[in-house]
Amino acid sequence: MTYSRKNISAIAGYVPGEQPRGRTFIKLNTNENPYPPSPAVAKALKEFNPDRLRLYSEPSAMAVRNAAADVLGYTPAHYLIGNGSDDLLTIALRTFVDQDGKAAFTNPSYSLYPVLADLQGAQRVPVELTDDFDLPENTLETIDGATLFLVANPNAPTGNLISKERLRRIAEQFHGVLWIDEAYVDFAGKTCLDLVGEFPNVVVSRTLSKSYSLAGLRLGIACANPDLIFEMNKVKDSYNIDMIAQALAEAAIRDQESMKNNARKIIATRERVASQLKDMGCDVLPSAANFIFVRPPMEAAILFKELREEGFLVRYFNLPRIDDRIRITIGTDEDMDSFVKAVKGILERHR
Ligand code: PMP
Repeated sequence: MTYSRKNISAIAGYVPGEQPRGRTFIKLNTNENPYPPSPAVAKALKEFNPDRLRLYSEPSAMAVRNAAADVLGYTPAHYLIGNGSDDLLTIALRTFVDQDGKAAFTNPSYSLYPVLADLQGAQRVPVELTDDFDLPENTLETIDGATLFLVANPNAPTGNLISKERLRRIAEQFHGVLWIDEAYVDFAGKTCLDLVGEFPNVVVSRTLSKSYSLAGLRLGIACANPDLIFEMNKVKDSYNIDMIAQALAEAAIRDQESMKNNARKIIATRERVASQLKDMGCDVLPSAANFIFVRPPMEAAILFKELREEGFLVRYFNLPRIDDRIRITIGTDEDMDSFVKAVKGILERHR
């Protein structure tokens, strides 16, 4: 006997990366930022008066939308704020995809996308990426009939960037909404934000979880033509961003300097670690994100397990095409030095 809808009882649901309790790990598994958020965030938290919590939060997160418009461009009406970008993705499925409709997404990519399609009761339309994880030539034919196409750029877990020209051509010819998920864009240096001004059917989403070091705050930003934002606004929870998150997010967004400094450090560490792992015989995909996707010269699942035993959490996906790799979030230089040493030891044992 089940009380749930058929499509809910039929699926396992999304499995997030482990958040360990009880034992200390060097945590390189969920693409969090190893550096603290902007000092302006600490200040805003300290100055927050809890008496204000008696009232509901501003429903549209106006202060955050204003900050986003000041820093990223466009107008506040171009922005929708979510409780993390996962919330925005849920809103996207509910706004743009009918039950029994079609939701397209790249594969391999963020493993939440197919789960969201299932939850909506929509048909999954996976677009198989090429061998180097780019969009295939037949993308437009594959997504024909879908009303939403989700593309993570840079992609996760592969880390590569899809060119703006490719995405511009999709936006031009696709009859649905092209959603470009830029969760990792601050580590890439190239954005598709200008496509929002060019097309009525493009959404670009961002998150404070990675480059802004605020995964625990839960705040995502969607930028699109105000007509699309208007529709999504009907779907979101009325008060989806709490008052504390609004105050802290505004402070974080307005301090671009400290976010960019941390991103620069992470990029430098990423390049250094990638070359060290290559020297040990690993295949490392070029990354435009705060993680690297690595094929070790041994079974990836075993490396994952042995790293865990040594106190390092990374991510392993037991899925077709990517089960020979592990995804490693870039941590501090110190953590990465001990990580590289651990990998070296394990590889030597398995030679
Ligand atoms: N998009 C991608 C591609 C991601 O990897 C993640 C992180 N799991 C998210 C969105 C979700 O981020 P948030 O913390 O903003 O919900």
